[in-house]
Amino acid sequence: MFQIDKDKCLGCGGCTITCPKGIAIGSENKAEIINEEELIHAGGESVCPYGAIVLEEDDDIEDVFGVDEEIKDDDDQSMSF
Ligand code: SF4
Repeated sequence: MFQIDKDKCLGCGGCTITCPKGIAIGSENKAEIINEEELIHAGGESVCPYGAIVLEEDDDIEDVFGVDEEIKDDDDQSMSF
């Protein structure tokens, strides 16, 4: 999942020219991703020459483990009945 590093974003709008359907300039004068698929097609991180578009690690695996832990906890509780 792409995110905007707001500390690095200058609000220059270059990304909105390269990827007008994927990024817009928001109220803080910083880029905001409005359509990630369009951003991927436009080049992803390379759309920003200042490195403000970053690809965050997908944490779905952690979510899955979190669910597993909940299931395990539920199992433990059901055994106590
Ligand atoms: S993300 Fe990059 S190209 Fe887009 S406004 Fe911010 S600094 Fe400019």
